[in-house]
Amino acid sequence: MRTFDIEQIRADFPILGREVNGRPLVYFDNGATTQKPKQVIDAITRYYADMNSNVHRGVHYLSQISTDAFEVTRRKVQAFIHAKHEHEIIITKGTTEAINIVASCYGRAFINAEDEIIISAMEHHSNIVPWQMLCDEKGCKLRVIPMNDRGELDIEAYKSLFSERTKLVSFTYVSNALGTVNPVKEMIDIAHEHDVPVLVDGAQAIQHVAIDVEALGVDFFAFSGHKMYGPTGVGVLYGKEELLNKMPPYQGGGDMIKDVTFEKTTYNELPFKFEAGTPNIEAGICLGDAIDYIESIGLDVIKDYEEELLAYATSRLSEIDGIRFIGTAAHKSSVISFVVDGVHPYDIGVILDKLGVAVRTGHHCAQPVMNAFDIPGTVRVSLAMYNTKEEVDILIEGLQRALRMLV
Ligand code: PMP
Repeated sequence: MRTFDIEQIRADFPILGREVNGRPLVYFDNGATTQKPKQVIDAITRYYADMNSNVHRGVHYLSQISTDAFEVTRRKVQAFIHAKHEHEIIITKGTTEAINIVASCYGRAFINAEDEIIISAMEHHSNIVPWQMLCDEKGCKLRVIPMNDRGELDIEAYKSLFSERTKLVSFTYVSNALGTVNPVKEMIDIAHEHDVPVLVDGAQAIQHVAIDVEALGVDFFAFSGHKMYGPTGVGVLYGKEELLNKMPPYQGGGDMIKDVTFEKTTYNELPFKFEAGTPNIEAGICLGDAIDYIESIGLDVIKDYEEELLAYATSRLSEIDGIRFIGTAAHKSSVISFVVDGVHPYDIGVILDKLGVAVRTGHHCAQPVMNAFDIPGTVRVSLAMYNTKEEVDILIEGLQRALRMLV
């Protein structure tokens, strides 16, 4: 088993050495975006210094090396999530775009009036709104898997939502607002018993849990580069070849075509059919460096470390009087959401910020989750592999101080 050298890992992330408001930065907003190791930062500089050129176009040297590097990332993603074919990996702007591609292309082609789409009560807005837009357009309907007061999905209720009108299921692997890890394999199998394809939003899973799309049998899987130590502006839609092939393209433009005349256009093969226009080349290439970085440490080792940290942070936070956890699922990953009754989460966030501690406050783009718990928002502490127990202790001291001022 590989060892986890936290000092070395922290040294890889230059931003962790800076101060905020005169205090060492303690960064607990990893659910929003993770920091980047110097391996990724250097790769971005190297791209612009050594190879900047458009991809999939030129015969010249720079275009060839940037195209090769971009395509290397596709193969790294394929290996990282265990996809069967590299052309099943569509490079997108992020999770949001990946979900929108499925809603737009699969939805418009195969989902009709009165059909139903199942999502869950704990979705990020980006896994709600694209489906609502589709429903507005096509007259289809959303069915929502309810959750219990611990923030766990009700699997029996899920089973009962299926009918011959169900055309797609889409749910998150890990809730960004609650930290719940859903029983993804079981839920996919249930949908497949009804011959219904499944999209899994992997935005909060990809950096914490090893993903094997083939073993899961998932039909579509979406994630973002910036939440897995990679650049912003890049993400991935994995789709089964058979489904991607029968979907119409997303946007029209360069790269996604085979032949264009004013009479008729024929479309390119996978994956290019879904990659119109110049992509975010440097981010695409450097997503590969982020994958290399994660693999150099090992997701299994990262997972063990983060689980220990999550348990420590949860137990230290529960020592604080008045804290109420929102989301107490039996199976959780790297996210702790809480409220202190009578205190606005925002005020806690502002005081913590003055102490150099970055947390997220608010609804976390999951307003229906907040409505379900009848709260306007939470304080969210979300962990990454570079966080430490010492940082948790700083958070606890900061919180105690904040609450002395606010309560
Ligand atoms: N789904 C989940 C569960 C998320 O946490 C996020 C980001 N907060 C998204 C989707 C959207 O990701 P992006 O903004 O990178 O497209």
